[in-house]
Amino acid sequence: MTVQKVLEIPHLCLSNPTTEITDFGSEEIQLANDLIDTMLASPGCVGLAANQIGVPRRIFALDVSGHHKTTSCHGKLVICNPVLIDGSDNVTLREGCMSVPHFTGDITRPSKICLKGYDPQGAPMEIITEGFEARAILHELDHLNGYVFIDRIESPTALFKRKVYL
Ligand SMILES: [Zn+2]
Repeated sequence: MTVQKVLEIPHLCLSNPTTEITDFGSEEIQLANDLIDTMLASPGCVGLAANQIGVPRRIFALDVSGHHKTTSCHGKLVICNPVLIDGSDNVTLREGCMSVPHFTGDITRPSKICLKGYDPQGAPMEIITEGFEARAILHELDHLNGYVFIDRIESPTALFKRKVYL
């Protein structure tokens, strides 16, 4: 088990786009395991992108199964080279992020999505989901594109100082 340090803004690794996974081998499996281990070791963390642990590759881990807001759930996921195929029904909800520890924000995102990608062994996968899981996936996808949630804040009144730390 390798728990990695989670980077915080303004680290450049969080604001640069990541690169596609081109080989699916032991290095990618190790990275996937590190992402899962670090996510599970972090209280309240439901997703983690590779560039949050300093690796600029297009891969993230996700697990919303224990979260009280979860409606649709695919369990523990690691998705490589994710591509958003479809998104609809925008909803505005509060978000937080381990890389932005002192703030939360109201962010508008599609509540229903279809996403394609690959598992860490290189097998193609398609995820159709909604609600909290969809939001978590879109949040991680933003990380891989070099954005954190505060980049999506529409007005200063949608940004809040965090009151509760897990
Ligand atoms: Zn985040």
